[in-house]
Amino acid sequence: MSQPERPRSGSAMHDATVWERVGRAVLLRCPRCGARGIWRSWFKMKDHCPTCGLNFERGETSDFWIGAYLINLVVAELSAVVVAGVMWATLGSRVSFNVLWGASMALAILMPILFYPFSRDLWLAIDIHIRPSEEGD
Ligand SMILES: [Zn+2]
Repeated sequence: MSQPERPRSGSAMHDATVWERVGRAVLLRCPRCGARGIWRSWFKMKDHCPTCGLNFERGETSDFWIGAYLINLVVAELSAVVVAGVMWATLGSRVSFNVLWGASMALAILMPILFYPFSRDLWLAIDIHIRPSEEGD
């Protein structure tokens, strides 16, 4: 059982590099303070960080998460193309077109589901780095 993390100091939360924030996002942690437990489920993020209180709905409008959807789409489509390309390059004529197509389609369908929380956390990390949170955020 994991212990809840203690809040870090304000300067540590705001002075993190973009790579530190991305690293926290890859671990599905709060990109501002690094705390765990910001997800209710695989598809549902909490409204606020339970440790630092960061409001995860940072956009003024509902289109704030379009960046996360774009990250998710690019990763899913790139993974489908890269895997098919690597299979074709390494196996050549030993693999049929149907196998390549099937693997690509499976990845194109599964990756958006598997990568969903990572894309949202990554977008939040990028947004926090570009628009640092303010007191009371
Ligand atoms: Zn936090």
